[in-house]
Amino acid sequence: EATKETLGFQTEAKQLLQLMIHSLYSNREIFLRELISNASDAADKLRFESLKNAALLEQDADIKIRIDHDAEANTITISDNGIGMNKDEVISNLGTIARSGTAEFISKLSGDESKDSQLIGQFGVGFYSAFIVADKVDVYTRRAGSPASEGVHWESTGEADFSIESCERAERGTSIVLHLKEDAKEFAEGFRIRNIVKKYSDHIALPVVMKSQPQPEYDDEGNAKETTAEPVDEVVNNATALWTRSRSEVSDEEYNEFYKLISHDFQEPLKWSHNKVEGKLEYSSLLYIPAKAPFDLYNRDADRGLKLYVQRTFIMDEAEQFLPMYLRFIKGVVDSNDLSLNVSREILQQDPAVDSMKSALTKRVLDMLSKMAKNDEEAYGKFWAEFGQVLKEGPAEDFNNREKVAKLFRFSSTVSEGSAQDQSLEAYVERMKEGQSKIYYVAAENLTTAKNSPHLEVFRKKGVEVLLLTDRVDEWLMGHLVDFDGKQFEDVGKGALDLGELDSEEDKKAAEELASNNKDLVERIQGAVGDKVEAVRVTSRLTDSPACLVVGEADMGAQMRRLLEQAGQ
Ligand code: ADP
Ligand code: MG
Repeated sequence: EATKETLGFQTEAKQLLQLMIHSLYSNREIFLRELISNASDAADKLRFESLKNAALLEQDADIKIRIDHDAEANTITISDNGIGMNKDEVISNLGTIARSGTAEFISKLSGDESKDSQLIGQFGVGFYSAFIVADKVDVYTRRAGSPASEGVHWESTGEADFSIESCERAERGTSIVLHLKEDAKEFAEGFRIRNIVKKYSDHIALPVVMKSQPQPEYDDEGNAKETTAEPVDEVVNNATALWTRSRSEVSDEEYNEFYKLISHDFQEPLKWSHNKVEGKLEYSSLLYIPAKAPFDLYNRDADRGLKLYVQRTFIMDEAEQFLPMYLRFIKGVVDSNDLSLNVSREILQQDPAVDSMKSALTKRVLDMLSKMAKNDEEAYGKFWAEFGQVLKEGPAEDFNNREKVAKLFRFSSTVSEGSAQDQSLEAYVERMKEGQSKIYYVAAENLTTAKNSPHLEVFRKKGVEVLLLTDRVDEWLMGHLVDFDGKQFEDVGKGALDLGELDSEEDKKAAEELASNNKDLVERIQGAVGDKVEAVRVTSRLTDSPACLVVGEADMGAQMRRLLEQAGQ
């Protein structure tokens, strides 16, 4: 005979349940995500245990989640044929919170709805979130492998206690019936439920099934024929987490389609990198480099970041914490096994696990780019034309990866044939002349001005390569880059040019002679231009032009000055 017992919730469970109902009211729909996530966990557990004991599958290896709804009765039911629970498990899993530190956590809650919802999110809302929308919850469950007579029925109104009794249950697994509150009727509507499932559980690996009425047939007059057709099962989610599949199983076309889905871009991506990381942290990532820059790439407030999943459950879009700003053009997904399902943006900012993931993902992107630069110059050229300027923000933002990022840079130089920025710093260094210790550059408004700069004359004469910098960010970049491969950058338009060992003893002697022979001339010019200039010098940097203007060693470069002038400073 079925005897019904009434048991009290553990104090902490009762408190948390009440606090949750109040603080998560504005985000009620997450209850469905939580219950689907539990159903999916139950399926994972069954799969795992059945590896050792195949009998647990009971001739029903087709694991899925079912959602039924009844607008008249105002109920929604979430069922799974996963591992299920026996009586003891129901009592402890649904009546207590075993997590250590729970009492302390609850004591931190303030009663302020918005603050508390953050904290509760951090803690994890789980099963009790059912009571945000339901005033009564029935759980029917049977553990896999137990006889049908050992079903358990748990029931509660989410106040002080719950009741529990045994029941007959033929099906393995768990059904959770939510008797919806008067103001939560929307969750008994198929359309609303489908939307929530799509939003949060599309890529959960299990099919989420709902009953759907077949399309009616029409007679000749266009009236719907009376039908006896039964509703049919319809899978409402995508049911495969693409990034959880192994690379060899996913076709290029699927990768491309998935990119379009998550990026809302209709073009195909340039490259992607799909990885699974195991060890101290466990996560999968699928990162894409788009082919084209979005129009708002330079708008610092524009959406950016990855789609975050935790254990295949969707958590948020635009999780910006996993990549630095200078890689904001990357699209993709990161799926963590370590974060809480209720992780919030605020929590992400403080979580050291997120920091480690960020540096690993940054490295992943930089590696993907260096590989592309090495193996597919054409694609890399396209990438550089679209995103090169953003990448140039790298050394300032990410000092540790300065050298790695610098290797990805491409500049025009005096050896470039066309107008494309096509020379790497590594190639420059390889071509450096005997005795050359610096990387020389000239910064100008455009390529023609740069190429015609009188500052280049001496370099041409000596056959020394000079980088031609024409992007607005270039001088700013040089300020952060400082050196590459141990070689300093030198603006050829600044100060008294020191060519170091590039000048032979004879060159130096000749320069000194030139200076002393022309002392009078220098003084006369100085007198003529007065205090418009700081100094007049004899120079050996010119071969064709009679004179040129240079900027002081410590002064702002000409390009930088223009940049600030344009900004109204
Ligand atoms: P969490 O999922 O973080 O463990 P929940 O509050 O969501 O916390 O769930 C509490 C526990 O109840 C789960 O750990 C699990 O043991 C049990 N449980 C909940 N839903 C199910 C289900 N559908 N099938 C089997 N066990 C479940
Ligand atoms: Mg859960």
